[in-house]
Amino acid sequence: MSEPPHGIYGIDLGTTYSVVGYIDETGRPAVSRNSDGHDTTPSVVYFETADNIVVGRVAKEAAGMFPDQVVSLIKREMGDKDWRRDFFGSQYAPPSISALILSALARDAQSDTGRPVSEVVITVPAYFGLLEKDATRSAGEIAGLKVIGIVPEPVAAALHYGVSGSADGTTFLVYDLGGGTFDISLITMTDTSVEVLAVGGNHRLGGADWDEKLFGYLLDQLTGQWGDDSARDDEQELQELRAITEQVKKDLSRAESKKVIRRYGGTSASVTVTRQQFEEMTAELLDETIRITRQTLDEADQRHPGIRERISELLLVGGSSRMPAVAERLRKEFRWEPRLTDPDLAVAKGAALYAAGQTVRFTEAAAAAAGTGTEPGTARPGAGLGYPGELTDEAVQEVASRTGIDEDKVRAIAGRTVVNVLPKAIGVKLLDTAKAGWEDDPEGASYIEHLIDAQTQLPVDPPRTLEANTVLANQPGVKIEIWEQAGAVPDPDLSANHRVDNAGLIEGLAPFRLPAGSPVIIAIGVDAEGTVTLKAVEPASGKELVMNVRISVLSAEQVDEAKVNHRGLTIGTS
Ligand code: AMP
Repeated sequence: MSEPPHGIYGIDLGTTYSVVGYIDETGRPAVSRNSDGHDTTPSVVYFETADNIVVGRVAKEAAGMFPDQVVSLIKREMGDKDWRRDFFGSQYAPPSISALILSALARDAQSDTGRPVSEVVITVPAYFGLLEKDATRSAGEIAGLKVIGIVPEPVAAALHYGVSGSADGTTFLVYDLGGGTFDISLITMTDTSVEVLAVGGNHRLGGADWDEKLFGYLLDQLTGQWGDDSARDDEQELQELRAITEQVKKDLSRAESKKVIRRYGGTSASVTVTRQQFEEMTAELLDETIRITRQTLDEADQRHPGIRERISELLLVGGSSRMPAVAERLRKEFRWEPRLTDPDLAVAKGAALYAAGQTVRFTEAAAAAAGTGTEPGTARPGAGLGYPGELTDEAVQEVASRTGIDEDKVRAIAGRTVVNVLPKAIGVKLLDTAKAGWEDDPEGASYIEHLIDAQTQLPVDPPRTLEANTVLANQPGVKIEIWEQAGAVPDPDLSANHRVDNAGLIEGLAPFRLPAGSPVIIAIGVDAEGTVTLKAVEPASGKELVMNVRISVLSAEQVDEAKVNHRGLTIGTS
């Protein structure tokens, strides 16, 4: 029997839960079920033995017993070059851990749908910087998957909602409150494009913080009634209470109050929490999402005057937007009626739709490459976000027959270009020679000069330029480093930025005996996919430096090494 055709998959790799979307036999986006029969799988990894890894619900449950062998919320560490954990003698970076989640998801999806998972689209928050996107791509690669696209979560959500574009475009906000992150995006959609106009968010704010508040409250009440504080040091009790807390929180989205009865050390305690109490104890968290939403709208309005007036919808995404307080508050603060449809699954389904489009592009790229002898995917780098190529009828027909989606729909999905914004400012490191003592402590006198602001639409072409200066007479060379904003707002302080690549050098300047303060022109451009190019020239000598910045969390060798380690593991959800 021949192998079934590969499926079309989009993976929502979430902070707390992940979901696999696919295109079903009727051509509609659907989500696959894991080995537990659930749509969502906790993004939790349990290193049970040196070669056996468990992902999902069982891993989440193991966290209480074996906290040192369990990793959760890894998405928050994506992009951190220094984060490493050792399990049974092997080192794991964030992409290697995410790869374990991806493999488990892929395996379950394959057994549910009966179609092999080999090419995937993976979603990322819109505010993910260059490093985090690269880390996500590497995670897919380590898991042995071909990543045919990285799509911003709000774009995926928008594709799923299918907000139909008029000629002028529909402009809407996507408010995404997940388990560990909050993301707000302003999007304009037409028949032919999805354009991200502004993004904002906090990747350390999500349902887990709501849980934490409620957990603190329940623990205080229970220990008070038990008359026993030792539960606070009892890892297993705490873990069980955490699981109960999350369930109570979810129940309070439907019920007005919820009772928790719990026995410890021979004493029973009973605590009733009302929805109102829960909303009061978490009010400041919700306030924070409103503050970020306003700030993002203000920034967007400055960049696109009058855009606020054109917003017609407010889409709610992410499991935590099921909390009734979210829609109520948004209704009160803004004039748009919040729409909540399928909040936990919308991103994965949209990612599957996007994957259908990417598959057409790859099919077409493969056909084009067959004609030109180039490797598919390299002929058109990225073949991804924003690639506006012509879609051939053959490629559309092939994908339509493979997925069951009708040809016009395939053409419409695939024909939509995605325009993203640069979520974080990019700049270079400069030395402030006006600062006393810079000779002895150059690092202390250094700062980041941002050349490209956050929220700039991609591509950034022509490049942005900056005139920097040499600092010493007869300086033999100039070292140039690219840095990216790390925090929520751009700040020149080194600690508020991170370096995204190894330094480049303009060398061989010594013979030119340049005086201190000689100009060096630096230009940075960014393509539609977020790849950065830097060009720097010292005009007197004509010496130049061109860097195609390969922004990466792991080197190619490290990815290969992680792949080998990954292949030696048994990974599953049960
Ligand atoms: P996501 O990352 O989008 O899957 O969101 C997961 C988060 O949504 C977790 O913090 C869940 O506890 C939370 N969540 C899921 N369902 C509900 C609900 N009915 N009410 C409140 N929070 C929920």
